[in-house]
Amino acid sequence: MNFLEEKVNALKEAGIYRELPINDTPIDAIIELNGKKVINLCSNNYLGFANHKRLIEASKKALDQYGVGAGAVRTIVGNMRIHEALEETIAKFKKEEAALVYQSGFLCNLGVIQAVTTEKDLILSDELNHASIIDGVKLSKADKAVYKHSNMADLERLLIEKRSQYEQVLIITDGVFSMDGDLAKLPEIVKLAKQYNALTYVDDAHGSGVLGEHGRGTVDHFHLHGQVDFIIGTLSKAIGVVGGYVCGSKAMKSYLLHRSRPHLFSTSMQPSAAAAIIEAFHMLESSDEYTLKLWDNARYLKSKLQQLGFDIGHSETPITPIMIGDEVKTMAFSKQLLDNGVYVSGIIFPTVSKGKGRIRVMVSALHDKDILDRAVDIIEKTAKSMHIL
Ligand SMILES: *Cc1c(COP(=O)(O)O)cnc(C)c1O
Repeated sequence: MNFLEEKVNALKEAGIYRELPINDTPIDAIIELNGKKVINLCSNNYLGFANHKRLIEASKKALDQYGVGAGAVRTIVGNMRIHEALEETIAKFKKEEAALVYQSGFLCNLGVIQAVTTEKDLILSDELNHASIIDGVKLSKADKAVYKHSNMADLERLLIEKRSQYEQVLIITDGVFSMDGDLAKLPEIVKLAKQYNALTYVDDAHGSGVLGEHGRGTVDHFHLHGQVDFIIGTLSKAIGVVGGYVCGSKAMKSYLLHRSRPHLFSTSMQPSAAAAIIEAFHMLESSDEYTLKLWDNARYLKSKLQQLGFDIGHSETPITPIMIGDEVKTMAFSKQLLDNGVYVSGIIFPTVSKGKGRIRVMVSALHDKDILDRAVDIIEKTAKSMHIL
């Protein structure tokens, strides 16, 4: 195993090796990390559902009713009534014909992209798409081309150049881009797709539960129901549990149940998770209290950071980057913030391009103004002591 030890040593020499912090508490506004209380500003638990009483109760009930495991892949005996109920709940909430659940959002992209494309097809993918899309595209036999981030002229150029050579063309984009918090230009993408007879695929992992009426997502935000062919969401972020799903036509669902490899070869979601997720969607459907609180906190935090003079990029969502630039400085800043009691993620190349290092502040419905004030105060003092402000 010497070759792996050498690789680990190379990471250490490059200064990018890190030990994972250990969390001893449920995901809340304040967590206990490596034995120390810190303000949590880096989880994707947008609505505070990961440790919500109602989800826990629903989960416990399902444990008693169904046990801890689904017992097999979906296509054998792992298709419990609660999985069917979950998919009905999701389709109804998203206002789409059908939904199909996966064990994670990552697996969903791997499974769907590969299954719905062939060697006669072309995939057009935004250059900032999530890693799971990139891997899903790699698994597909289709030809691939990448268009510049949200650049509609570049997308159209590719459509003009290549459309006639392929049977299907699939345009894939994140709904909300996770590093900058900007939205895909979905109305324009849908328009181009119609004009050039292409299919559309939106991964709305960071938009579901956040954007649109009651958090129905980016497609709802842009009033594009029925006009996007594949709508992906995760159940691990705003929904607070684990899993992923694709919404689309009934035919899409039937086909994927026969050809999508995570359904054929990987055990289905644990029933207690499905129960918690159903409860989460019921809560979203019946009240917008959580999404409103999230947005209220996001606006408050953003305005405070901006008033202090931080460059917070061009986010249109609660995702709030603080642009730093230099990689080493970015990592030193996030480490110092953790020492001072605020946990945010430092994000550097290769996750973002060189010289675009940033810390990413993730606010949630769990925070209150008092905690946000404390966090901003620590961020300000730390930045000043490091000559960042
Ligand atoms: C987080 C994320 C995923 C993966 O979702 P998981 O459920 O955590 O596996 C997929 N796509 C995008 C755009 C994401 O941000």
